[in-house]
Amino acid sequence: MSYTIDTVVAISTPPGRGGIGIIRISGKSVPEIAHKLLGKIPNPRKAEYLPFLDTDGSILEQVIALFFPEPNSFTGENILEIHGHGGQIILDILLERILKTSSDIRIAHPGEFTKRAFLNNKIDLVQAEAIADIIDATSYQAAKSASNSLQGIFSRKIHIISEQLTNLRMYAESSIDFSEDEISIIPYEDIKKKLRNIINDVQKMYKSTYHGVLLREGIKIVIAGKPNAGKSSLFNALVGIDRAIISTISGTTRDTLHECVQLNGIAFHITDTAGLQKKSDNEIEQIGMKRTWEELSNSDHILWVIDPNDKTDKEHDITLEHVEKVLFCKNKKPAITIIHNKSDLTKNKIGISIINNYTIITLSALFDDGTDLLKEYLSNNIKFQIQEDYSYNLAENQGNFIARRRHLDALEKSSKYLLSAQTQLLSAMSINELFAEDLGLAHKELSKIFGKCTPDDLLTRIFSTFCIGK
Ligand code: GDP
Repeated sequence: MSYTIDTVVAISTPPGRGGIGIIRISGKSVPEIAHKLLGKIPNPRKAEYLPFLDTDGSILEQVIALFFPEPNSFTGENILEIHGHGGQIILDILLERILKTSSDIRIAHPGEFTKRAFLNNKIDLVQAEAIADIIDATSYQAAKSASNSLQGIFSRKIHIISEQLTNLRMYAESSIDFSEDEISIIPYEDIKKKLRNIINDVQKMYKSTYHGVLLREGIKIVIAGKPNAGKSSLFNALVGIDRAIISTISGTTRDTLHECVQLNGIAFHITDTAGLQKKSDNEIEQIGMKRTWEELSNSDHILWVIDPNDKTDKEHDITLEHVEKVLFCKNKKPAITIIHNKSDLTKNKIGISIINNYTIITLSALFDDGTDLLKEYLSNNIKFQIQEDYSYNLAENQGNFIARRRHLDALEKSSKYLLSAQTQLLSAMSINELFAEDLGLAHKELSKIFGKCTPDDLLTRIFSTFCIGK
């Protein structure tokens, strides 16, 4: 049973010229519309080569038509797909004709086909989001992970936790409602253990989800350091074009520059920033530094560039320690790699070393020597700071799935309620109403991931970011 009565139509292929163009119609009136357009209802799920008729019965186009009767279609409603030639004008002519076939047909809103699929329970919200993410993927890994999410990898993992939570809630509720004589109650220690396992699973899931977010959004790398350290040279070497101006004149980069590159199938958003100093009398330099701080606060990973040859006065230098302190106060803890640049001058050997827990990469940005090593390091061994430091190879993990910030938010809140339930359980030494209530709230947060208990305005916001025809 589908949720709407009106029928929607949209051109599902991108605008412009192409071999074929596809128009999709979904809704109750599809059979009646098919009759008017094609002279018949095509056989279900069989491609048929048919004339596309104008209002006077003349042939407008020869098309391939596909009919998917409800409920076995993408949206769960009757769907007619018309494959014509991929020219914008001809597709507009067909669309105009389709809109005249029925009084209840209208142009679909962005993402409306997927929204109907979600509302008709054909997919959950995670899968609906994954469809948009496959289309919008900016890297190989993002596309692959979105496909995993669409196949339900992410949803299944959340479902397993959700099931465990349902069971625990059942035990908790029955322990509150019935006495020991009435039902066999599971021991307090077992409840404690079950809860601990769920907390662990949610926290593990948070980490994998964080990776999914990084895969979707890309990793934000910010290049920073003092003026003339070679930040812009490194930026150009990493993005592979002479994008930033390079000069010996201090303070050439005053605004931030952004480029996106794919390393090992992962999107990296690289930002070049204005050099940091303790103070500057130049107003533009001050604005530039303010932007650098903003970029640093939003980064996943900082490349802190140093010119070990630099003999200039150190009085106005901002140290890495200071940067870390400022970010820490803002509750930010991006990973940091130190770049010892200008190896051609220092004669230091190109390579990677670890000193005081910092990874140090020695290279020459100007001569593009050692930058491949940095790229390899970034894509294979990127360090993420989530709860604790650990390295993770995003490119190699086959079970990756794509995720969004709202999923992280739900998991974080769920974890918070579970921890509160644990505190209740440990302090009361028994199962009480507060414990059960916290479990219920944790469960509600998890359910939001699938789109259950999701307010309409959030759904509208999610689907409005989709393209038309999807
Ligand atoms: P930024 O101010 O930190 O962005 O530094 P730039 O990239 O503009 O470089 C400042 C100066 O250092 C320029 O004259 C560059 O040519 C020079 N430079 C940058 N990297 C290297 C390097 O690896 N070797 C040498 N010899 N010079 C470099």
